[in-house]
Amino acid sequence: MDTVAEIKKYVEEKKSLFLEAADKIWSYAEIGFKEFQSAKALTDVLKAEGFSVQEGVAGIPTAFVASYGQGHPIIGLLGEYDALPALKHPAANAVPSEELTTDNGHGCGHNLLGAGSLGAAIAVKDYMQAHNLPGTIQYFGCPGEEFGSGKMFMARDGLFNDLDAALTWHGGAYNSITTQNSQANLCLYFKFKGRTSHAAGSPHLGRSALDACELMNVGCNYLREHMLPDERIHYAYTDVGGTAPNVVQDHACVFYYVRSPKLSQVIELTERVKDVARGAALMTGTQLEIVLNDGLCEYIPNHVLSTLLYESFCEVGGPKFTPEEKALAAEFAKTFDPAVEEDKVRSMTTLFGADIARQYKGSLLVEDILPYKPNTVVTGGSTDVGDVSYCTPTAQMNVSTWAMCTTGHTWQVTAQSGSSIGHTGTIKAAEVLALTAIKAMQSPELLQKAREEYVKVTGGKYICPVPDDVMPAL
Ligand SMILES: [Zn+2]
Repeated sequence: MDTVAEIKKYVEEKKSLFLEAADKIWSYAEIGFKEFQSAKALTDVLKAEGFSVQEGVAGIPTAFVASYGQGHPIIGLLGEYDALPALKHPAANAVPSEELTTDNGHGCGHNLLGAGSLGAAIAVKDYMQAHNLPGTIQYFGCPGEEFGSGKMFMARDGLFNDLDAALTWHGGAYNSITTQNSQANLCLYFKFKGRTSHAAGSPHLGRSALDACELMNVGCNYLREHMLPDERIHYAYTDVGGTAPNVVQDHACVFYYVRSPKLSQVIELTERVKDVARGAALMTGTQLEIVLNDGLCEYIPNHVLSTLLYESFCEVGGPKFTPEEKALAAEFAKTFDPAVEEDKVRSMTTLFGADIARQYKGSLLVEDILPYKPNTVVTGGSTDVGDVSYCTPTAQMNVSTWAMCTTGHTWQVTAQSGSSIGHTGTIKAAEVLALTAIKAMQSPELLQKAREEYVKVTGGKYICPVPDDVMPAL
């Protein structure tokens, strides 16, 4: 039996284990650093499969490392399992809800992400056992991707330093290798403290913390004109100082995300944002406290490793969806805004060229693997996989788990991540990651080349975006 067929056999034999974990995690829908049941669903399976599990790493109760084997090469598989607030939606249900929810849901499909990597880790272990393959397969239980930057704290603790390579995946609208960089990001609270007073009777005695927040936001909105085109600033109020207009607000807080293509740039831009905040405090006679919550590096794909991932994907083949799954995708497609389809064409043109974008326009579920095209595109978002990519050569892929034109962080993702469409993509992710890990373990020259590229591009050294005294926001 060839390696591909053998991997598919192992994945098929154990698929109920990791798909049940996916469904459990979907129903738990726990947000960043609170994923207690979700982490347990994964570690229970890993322990039963003979992995040694170190729990509560990097000072985060829901972070863990599971290992099988000994010595180098050491290949890491990354698993996420956190949900998002207010995105609960019934599984496989394409009817938009009339009711507003504040309950959590897997609107980015991380229930599948952790489960697919779990399936891969088990298949690699089974292959290593069958062939006496030396080396180590490690599964990294990575909490708080959406909020908290779990991998950054794990990287700061040196957990990825011994790896020869790291592999991961994300669900999405098509099958491809992630060749674009993500943004570096710093997340800060700006807490203003003023003096309360009767807003009508004695306004002259008040110093409004809410005014300070508003002036800071106005200042940052002017700053946008004078920053790099790819840079992003966005904010949310976490404390508006109360609900009574006739009470001068003596406390208020605004939470900022600052993003730039590179870590050095985001540090520079953040200093300018801090200056705006200081100016707002000066204007309003308030005191300012700045609290850095977390941050992360930009993602740098390793092209040697990404090419191996692409070749493995092509050998395994893309996911094949059933007629029922295609019919369900058609139901979801009815809920998409036409503007989203136009935007999908635009983004696919940037990444894959106009021909590919045209070819897949109007598709429901993409089964093909899109071509591997290295580029210099920077995505708008950020991921803490970036921190891993600064510690070791890293490759990431997307696998179809949603109908084409589904956008991330939506109820449609929650619904599809709890459906068989999500399962079909997850099984494929497990096969591709397992095959890539085994090939990497068997190719010391390839791992050496990947390391040379990693050292050349990153300097071979991880610089953590946050200082040692910033702890995870548990
Ligand atoms: Zn995600």
